[in-house]
Amino acid sequence: ATTPVKEVVMQVYNNFKMIHPDFTFIIDDDLDQEVISPIFHDHLEQILIILGDNAVKYSTNRPEVDFSLSRSAKFVEIGIQDYGEGIADDEIDKVFDRFYRVDKARSRKKGGNGLGLAIAKRLIEGYHGTITLESTLGSGSVFTIQLPIVEAIDE
Ligand code: ATP
Repeated sequence: ATTPVKEVVMQVYNNFKMIHPDFTFIIDDDLDQEVISPIFHDHLEQILIILGDNAVKYSTNRPEVDFSLSRSAKFVEIGIQDYGEGIADDEIDKVFDRFYRVDKARSRKKGGNGLGLAIAKRLIEGYHGTITLESTLGSGSVFTIQLPIVEAIDE
């Protein structure tokens, strides 16, 4: 399967805007043409929904989520940035573990099982991509996904 990445990111971004009218969503798109990645459409969509849902769910400072799109020779890069509670350095790797939730009591109020990020990471790595997290406790997080590109086509 191959999927046009920019199209799916735009579609998910537009859906988030509709579902969360109280939030600001920004997209910083550096791609001048569509990029195709060898991933199932539904899997890419699921990954973006998991990360977008978390960005909304754990937001504290301001209700904003910034998406970004860029590419290198062989990879397309998607960023999802929030201005939420952030994640401490020693939790950065653990949040990708199944059933792991930072601060169980606080997280329980927000609902969830601690599975979303584990599923996202497994899917991404199954397609030979990577997911990384940079975060500052109290000010927010950026999740960055890299997925391989198969070809670039004109728009
Ligand atoms: P679900 O199973 O519904 O996805 P969840 O949100 O608890 O529930 P994950 O998406 O795997 O599960 O996230 C694991 C934990 O990582 C969360 O419980 C939360 O503590 C932390 N976390 C995830 N995303 C963010 C974020 N954007 N900002 C701050 N903390 C986050």
